[in-house]
Amino acid sequence: MATFRAADEVYGIDLFEEGRPGRSSAYLIRGREPILVETGSANSQEALWSGLAELGVGPEDLRHVVVTHVHLDHAGGAGQTMARATKALLHCHPRAARHLADPRRLEAGARAVYGERLDAMFGPILPVAADRIVVHEDESALKTRDRILRFYDTPGHAKHHTCVVDEATRGIFSGDTIGIRYVPSYTGWDFVYGFPTTTPSDFDPEVMLETLDRLEALNLRAVYHTHYGVTEPAREAFQFSRRGLRRIQQILPLLSDASTYEEVAEALGRQVREDLASQGHPGVDVAPLALDLMLNSQGILVYLQKRAQGPREGEKR
Ligand SMILES: [Zn+2]
Repeated sequence: MATFRAADEVYGIDLFEEGRPGRSSAYLIRGREPILVETGSANSQEALWSGLAELGVGPEDLRHVVVTHVHLDHAGGAGQTMARATKALLHCHPRAARHLADPRRLEAGARAVYGERLDAMFGPILPVAADRIVVHEDESALKTRDRILRFYDTPGHAKHHTCVVDEATRGIFSGDTIGIRYVPSYTGWDFVYGFPTTTPSDFDPEVMLETLDRLEALNLRAVYHTHYGVTEPAREAFQFSRRGLRRIQQILPLLSDASTYEEVAEALGRQVREDLASQGHPGVDVAPLALDLMLNSQGILVYLQKRAQGPREGEKR
């Protein structure tokens, strides 16, 4: 099954991002005005539409599409999705809108991170007409006939990141902010494992911890992760995210902006293996996390370099 029930009228859809199951999920809130959360990349469009069809929803049924942030595994296919979902509006963070309307800078940034693999991994990035994009300031709401979604400004992973609370089910669409939930279908392990994502280029552990505190105070029931599936009770996702961030903070004093990528990757890999051991999984081969360890190491290095330079003019965080 490529879809799963997350809560009352909330369903997950496996996007088979990177061609692999259990990596990324979009969500459908079915209701009277169907809402899609996350589009995945261009390469996930087929999985997305077949998952929606399985749930009885066609492109013309969608009224709203929400993206948590503009990273390609979340919104890279927004242009393709919106071209088919002709009756839908696209909802996002105020800082995300210009990238969705004109993805050229986004694409250049992604190319710097993924290099030659970019096109094969995510496919083409198409713009969305600006007049179909609705931006949501902190705590603003999308009200449909039977649902209220509340948007929160959630920096720490990306400055253009919003997390969205479904008030009816008290669940939060967390994007990349409340950790990654690694599931057996992706890792091949026989347990679920949680760790934060620290990918470039806005990762900041202090800011992420502040965001986690703020979101946890909302007393939510469940976390609907893009990567992957549902953590319930929500508390457990906050716990594993904080635990991982503490481990990352432990390695920061050992590193500097002059550290090499290899040094960061080595220190991070050691922390992840120790974290797995502390959770009752000693000696696990972390190869299934190789891509994320690479991206996370890049993000930590970018953070160290930015921190050494100090805040740029006109930029608070
Ligand atoms: Zn992601």
